[in-house]
Amino acid sequence: MKLIGVLVAALLAGEILAVSIKPAHAAEKIAVVATFSILADMAKQVGGERVAVHSMVGPGSDAHVFQATPADAVTLRRAALVVENGFGFEGWLDRLIEAADYKGQRIVASEGVAPLSQADTDDHGHHQGDKHGLRAADPHAWQNIANGVHYVDNIARGLCNLDKSGCPTYKANGAAYIERLQALDREIKGRLAAIPSERRKVITSHSAFGYFAERYGVEIIAPEGVSTEQEAAALDVAGLIRQIREHDIKALFVENISDPRLIEQIARETGLKPAGRLYSDALSKAGGEADSYIAMMRHNGVAIAEALEAAGR
Ligand SMILES: [Zn+2]
Repeated sequence: MKLIGVLVAALLAGEILAVSIKPAHAAEKIAVVATFSILADMAKQVGGERVAVHSMVGPGSDAHVFQATPADAVTLRRAALVVENGFGFEGWLDRLIEAADYKGQRIVASEGVAPLSQADTDDHGHHQGDKHGLRAADPHAWQNIANGVHYVDNIARGLCNLDKSGCPTYKANGAAYIERLQALDREIKGRLAAIPSERRKVITSHSAFGYFAERYGVEIIAPEGVSTEQEAAALDVAGLIRQIREHDIKALFVENISDPRLIEQIARETGLKPAGRLYSDALSKAGGEADSYIAMMRHNGVAIAEALEAAGR
């Protein structure tokens, strides 16, 4: 990180020269940095035309194992606002903020959300060992749309603090967005509630769906823990396959940010077919099937519902 600090200083020195010859913009957008793509989308929805949002961890990438570059530090240094998840999700952020000498505001999007512990999430499934300790909070709170509503409120409040004249816009954008989120929340709840509860069991790669499971009444088992850092090779695959048979699990999914090989091996050995892909910690690229938070939650809800409905036929 010290090296990053030096490189940032060098890059900024060059930038001061470059900036001084550019004309000033009449309506400069507020530079917002979100730590990962899901938060970046929320910030865009709330900020609209008044903000320029950059996602540190891009679509399809894994925020658990992110490695910042000097260019990331420069982007951060120029920002007026950082939006982070909290609950220990961005273990790399404090060091990066220090290296970049970032002095702007920070919003913790999950502030006010009641956390599930990693132990709660892992209780649903099969998970061995965790270097972060089991009492830590499960960070994946956005997988419950009711929590997503809290995130949006926090982002709108943060933007209002920073830009008073834009506040009516942020409040109006936030309210309209929350209405769409609440409609989707009801839609997913209703669709899954129509499936007999004993059939509502799925397996996916890593324990990112504890909040989804709790909100929408699905049992979701994952061989990897709440973080993706654990090597799949260290897992007890035979035990997991036994568990799938004992629990009579109906559907199996790969994830957008996790290595699919383990799930594919489990599919071969159990005869369960992968029912598709779930989006856990990142959106798809623009134009993809899950390129916004709303599209992602709808995709996950529909994919799980369709797999479980098919298992009953
Ligand atoms: Zn995760």
